Amino acid sequence: MAETELQPLSAPLFERLTVIGAGLIGSSIVRVAKQRALAREVIVTDRSPSVCDRVRQLGIADQVIDDPAAAVAGSDLVILCVPVGASAEVGAEITDALALGAIVSDVGSVKSAVVDALAPILPKHVHLIPAHPVAGTEYSGPDAGFSTLFGNRWCIVTPPEDADPQAVERVREFWKACGANVETMTPAHHDLVLAITSHVPHLIAYNIVGTAADLEEVTQSEVIKFSAGGFRDFTRIAASDPTMWRDIFLNNKEAVLEMLGRFNEDLAALQRMIRWGDGQGLFDLFTRTRAIRRSIIEQGQETIEPDFGRGGSNDP
Ligand code: NAP
Repeated sequence: MAETELQPLSAPLFERLTVIGAGLIGSSIVRVAKQRALAREVIVTDRSPSVCDRVRQLGIADQVIDDPAAAVAGSDLVILCVPVGASAEVGAEITDALALGAIVSDVGSVKSAVVDALAPILPKHVHLIPAHPVAGTEYSGPDAGFSTLFGNRWCIVTPPEDADPQAVERVREFWKACGANVETMTPAHHDLVLAITSHVPHLIAYNIVGTAADLEEVTQSEVIKFSAGGFRDFTRIAASDPTMWRDIFLNNKEAVLEMLGRFNEDLAALQRMIRWGDGQGLFDLFTRTRAIRRSIIEQGQETIEPDFGRGGSNDP
């Protein structure tokens, strides 16, 4: 969805922002932070020398510092933009270098596991305020990011129970300035909501594309040649980054399994309707689901144009 670029702020919200992991989400934050002057200085670090070099070439940050500890020193906002499974490792690398009163946030698609990984290892003198921008595409890396990615999308801030309200408010303000609508909820509730709105749909996409690829009666070239809109939409979702999605399922196990249980029950009911020719039951369900799609469009979270797998957002 094309969003218009926002104007720079008259005064920055932070002195020094460090983004760890300059992939799709990290490089988008860097771009919008620079464009809107959300911090006086924007620093990038990434474990991949090639990613660091690419960010230097792109010229989107004020500084690229290879060493993560050196990159966070003196920053009042540090945002981890790495796969969820790497949170503890990155936390351990930076913990000794974090400035007094710094806010440490992240963008992970799972929240309880991130809090569990970071809270015990971060020093008491910093504020851990995790967040999840519900915006994205199926592309990865520093070239995939763009400054309008978060425009009119939701960002869910998930502070731990004992979080400092002022630090929470500063993170909320940051995301609003990135163009996002902001909601606050507990990490556990976030994980349950996202299990059904994002994680299970991705699992279904991975599964259906995998099933089609494994069919014996229908060749792979037929699947590709005759792929209809619905299947193409699934292939777009199933093209999402394997590392990131492996980490999401391993770190949101309980909520995903809970929602999959519900899904399987409902699927069995659909199977029964088809077997017994219950046309009315199928029609009623499809009418209810159509209304949900309409509400999403009415709330500006999707456009009415048909997409058929050629673009669009992925939103893990
Ligand atoms: P991405 O494009 O693959 O970027 C991740 C970056 O982090 C890569 O440059 C990666 O380097 C780097 N990295 C990995 N492990 C690291 C480590 N231990 N230390 C430092 N850097 C490390 O991924 P992304 O899509 O931006 O996703 C990042 C986070 O955002 C994930 O937690 C994901 O759940 C969340 N998220 C993603 C989306 C989405 O649509 N993609 C939406 C919302 C939230 P390498 O290239 O060497 O692996």
